[in-house]
Amino acid sequence: MKIIQEVAAMKAYVKAIKDKGETICLVPTMGYLHEGHLDLMRMGRPMADHLMISIFVNPTQFGPNEDLDKYPRDMERDTKLAASVGVDCIFFPDVSQMYPQGYATYVNVEDITKGLCGAARPTHFRGVTTVVLKLFNIIEPDLSIFGEKDYQQLAVIRRMVEDLNMNVKIVAHPTVREEDGLAMSSRNKYLNPEQRKNALVLRRSLLLAQDRVKAGERSAAKIRDEVMKMIASTPGSVIDYVEIVDTDTLEPVDKTEGRTVMALAVKFGTTRLIDNITLEA
Ligand code: AMP
Repeated sequence: MKIIQEVAAMKAYVKAIKDKGETICLVPTMGYLHEGHLDLMRMGRPMADHLMISIFVNPTQFGPNEDLDKYPRDMERDTKLAASVGVDCIFFPDVSQMYPQGYATYVNVEDITKGLCGAARPTHFRGVTTVVLKLFNIIEPDLSIFGEKDYQQLAVIRRMVEDLNMNVKIVAHPTVREEDGLAMSSRNKYLNPEQRKNALVLRRSLLLAQDRVKAGERSAAKIRDEVMKMIASTPGSVIDYVEIVDTDTLEPVDKTEGRTVMALAVKFGTTRLIDNITLEA
């Protein structure tokens, strides 16, 4: 398995692959890999000749008071884990490779970046789309895999790829969970045992919403209220948002007709967790 840190070297590596007519699958990550990341890689392995991942804690997607500096990192462990699922190459640039002196260009997807996580994190998606576009330009993947856990991110990237006529197929992977239902996340390691236990309310509340829809409830407001009550009654939880939205536009809906998505963000202490569920009427 190759580890490449420089953009120029990565481009040369990619060119050699493209010259042979071979295909590339890319799984972008911020590292500190867990089973969720590894499942995306396992999914990607048979889908292309070359499986590449990127590990880059992207500063432009963190707000001024967010956890950029303390975001967990462990390259030695990540390298072993990536090798264990058949990754061919890790692109592991440092910040000066991705944002050299004088860097001034950002890509911004409008509208669907405004709500949900975009409301509390107004520059987050601009950072995500900028870095993903850069990774796509450097690595030229035929396909790239993203997790449904970050539902808004997936929708924003699909939008960008369609709007900018990009030659990459975006593939979604379902959310990977711990046995007790908590969505896997590199940030779960910040939770103390009490918070870790209380955080299970997220999955429970999403399943409650699903039950209500299955039982015929169509009022998004009613379902949302019930979910918010359940979360609010859990010690240590501070709700950022709970919304039921259209699967593509991410606009809030009044009625849970057809397929909709309930998405939520809740803080436990300083740790902000997100999760979502597709509701099928
Ligand atoms: P991150 O390192 O958190 O930026 O995540 C890298 C990729 O892994 C993104 O496409 C995430 O959506 C995906 N991912 C992270 N956690 C999970 C999970 N629990 N289930 C599925 N995909 C995930």
